[in-house]
Amino acid sequence: MNGTTPAGEDGLFCPSAQPDVTNGVVIGVVGGSPGEPRVTYLDEPLPVTPDLLALAAPVHPTEVFRMGAPCVRSACQHFEGTRCALVRQLVAGIEPAAQELPRCGLRSRCRWWREEGVAACRRCPIVVTEVPNPTEEMARAARPAGQVRDPRPPHRGTRPEAGPRPP
Ligand code: SF4
Repeated sequence: MNGTTPAGEDGLFCPSAQPDVTNGVVIGVVGGSPGEPRVTYLDEPLPVTPDLLALAAPVHPTEVFRMGAPCVRSACQHFEGTRCALVRQLVAGIEPAAQELPRCGLRSRCRWWREEGVAACRRCPIVVTEVPNPTEEMARAARPAGQVRDPRPPHRGTRPEAGPRPP
């Protein structure tokens, strides 16, 4: 992340943004298969440009790239109170896809990492921003804030999965 990239109000980035948002960055490349996607993260996020998005043609950029952008907090349907309900729902409803913490250039400024720590990073590689045929679990996790009942107590901090902790 270069020093001139504007961050969200609290300095954090959403790691699953659309390509047309302001100040977006490419954070990873989607590999695997349509049924089992796997994101490989860039060591350094790259600013989204028309030329970069054009590399995805003929498919939609979100099928090829994972993009991040400054978190817009309450302007996002997934934001609830002071936190991201999407990552909370992903951690609650999706099994980890990776045992190791993925190498990721966004981490120091990632909202998901800051809120859910290693539990978020272990699920993040299977998140594709727009999925035509999501699994039932993924579709449920991606519902807007307030539409999924979380059995865990609210704002209980990082899920206790072994691994490094966010700052
Ligand atoms: S959740 Fe983890 S792996 Fe995903 S973008 Fe954030 S820091 Fe990177």
